[in-house]
Amino acid sequence: MSVMDAFRLNDRVALVTGGGSGIGLAFARAMAEAGADVAVVDWNEEAARKAAEQLAGETGRKVIALRADVSKEEDADRMVQETVRQLGGLDVCFANAGIGDEGALVTEYSKEDWDRVIAVNLTGVFLTDRAAARVMVERKRGSIINTASIYGLVGDFGMGAIGYTAAKGGVVQLTRTLAVQLAPMGIRVNAIAPAFIRTNLGEGKLREDVPDPELRKVHEEITRRTPIGRWGRPEDLAGIGVFLASDASAFCTGYIYAVDGGWLAV
Ligand code: ADP
Repeated sequence: MSVMDAFRLNDRVALVTGGGSGIGLAFARAMAEAGADVAVVDWNEEAARKAAEQLAGETGRKVIALRADVSKEEDADRMVQETVRQLGGLDVCFANAGIGDEGALVTEYSKEDWDRVIAVNLTGVFLTDRAAARVMVERKRGSIINTASIYGLVGDFGMGAIGYTAAKGGVVQLTRTLAVQLAPMGIRVNAIAPAFIRTNLGEGKLREDVPDPELRKVHEEITRRTPIGRWGRPEDLAGIGVFLASDASAFCTGYIYAVDGGWLAV
């Protein structure tokens, strides 16, 4: 098999949570472009439906939309069962859905914000991985890819993302443990750790169209501090997504792949 053939995902089925927007949408598009049929899962039903329609039109693949809140056990189980029922299996699962953190000094940080962020960004990844693994163990094949963050590996950039960093650190360790546990069953588990990506979540209140000069300064500081000299784009995650989903990464498991413009190298 040529190396480029190893990247092909023909006859595979991929599920992407948070696939309605941002990084998840880029993963879903990459899967369909590489030849997979795709389940786009989002708690925003309209976003999932639009994304699925658009990707099916662009690629000619079968792309379905499913509504699920990944922090709810029954939703996570159901999204996987529906994918298997409608698309005939599950080979690749991106546990990607995530939300942002209000951010505060720890003395002011609320238990509500902590619970909200941990529920989606950590418990949601566990529930997604578990549901996917239950299907994959039967076929002794699969690739699970979790969206971590550089914030799962280093402290945050002064924004007080306490729940977010704790959740992403948890995703990093969950990835390693599941990789070891599932390797004998033919299932690989890896994580991708993006840095600052221009999505609703990534930029949040730092969006360039927000005139607040303090926030603009932070936005520019992040650009300046990034060796490659710009914020990331969702498409910057597509290549590593296809790599980790495909046989090109057959010997890779349990690792956290940073896509960060060099942030961690400084
Ligand atoms: P990013 O791509 O940087 O994570 P976005 O906010 O653009 O930022 O994308 C996150 C996606 O995840 C959104 O489409 C959002 O609706 C989805 N999402 C967030 N929380 C959940 C959840 N609990 N269940 C399912 N989808 C979710």
